Amino acid sequence: MVGGISIRELPRKKYLLPGNPSCPGCPEALGLRYLGMALGDRVILVVPAGCSTVIEGLAPNYSMRFPIVNVPFASADAVASGVAAAKEVLGEDAVVVVWAGDGATADIGFATLSGAAERGDNIIHICVDNEAYMNTGIQRSSLTPYGAWTTTTWTGKKERKKDVPLIMLMHKVPYVATASVGYPMDFIEKLRRAVLIKGFKYIHLHAPCPTGWRFDPSLTVEVAKLAVETGMWILFEAVNGKVKISPPSLPYRDRSRRKPIRDYIKIQGRFRTLTDEELKKLESMVDDVWDTLTKFT
Ligand code: SF4
Repeated sequence: MVGGISIRELPRKKYLLPGNPSCPGCPEALGLRYLGMALGDRVILVVPAGCSTVIEGLAPNYSMRFPIVNVPFASADAVASGVAAAKEVLGEDAVVVVWAGDGATADIGFATLSGAAERGDNIIHICVDNEAYMNTGIQRSSLTPYGAWTTTTWTGKKERKKDVPLIMLMHKVPYVATASVGYPMDFIEKLRRAVLIKGFKYIHLHAPCPTGWRFDPSLTVEVAKLAVETGMWILFEAVNGKVKISPPSLPYRDRSRRKPIRDYIKIQGRFRTLTDEELKKLESMVDDVWDTLTKFT
């Protein structure tokens, strides 16, 4: 139970159907289930290429009950803006949701994301962040964290993760939040609050991927929780620019209460080349993200 909502009170209708292209333990599949539980039949999804929609990069595969507009990588938010404008003219009570991976959000799709945010278009953009281009073969994105292996960073990425939630906060949009597949009720509550706000809403969903991060598929939720417990991922919500750390992350504002980052990285094969010196650098980057964010609280 979080904020008066019990998981038992949420709709049980399944929006993700058998035959979907997800790997075992897929965080995107979890996220789509939670999206259905939160907003149900009101959702119209706008989806660029990504794990949720493509099998081996060949063909869209929509094993979902949501109405879906499939779009090229770079145009998701522009298309969503058009769909939102049309539904307003038609007087339809639908919620237009962009469901985009980290590449489609922070790299290839960033221009249309920023444009829709600046115009204040009435959509929700959800970045499902599995921290690499998974559906095309685990290539690095700007949201891959420092030190992580991908097929294009064999000795670990040398650059830090781009902070897209903060960038969206600087767009002065009415709603920005982070979420995690390890905390479904927190995500569902944020979706339900976002939908009540008119204008552009951005939610960044942390989505640990067993295939690309090299951990056992049974551990998806555990890895997601460890990201929060070590401070690697901070859950927060900002309404009209006022930042509040969300309850699951609140204890970890105090650095001494965080679990060691080593606990998070040691169960993932993608950090296997990380040296002690690089781990220290990663730890200082995490402190830096906390320091920057808490200045807005
Ligand atoms: S590669 Fe990762 S995100 Fe993509 S379908 Fe598989 S588990 Fe899900």
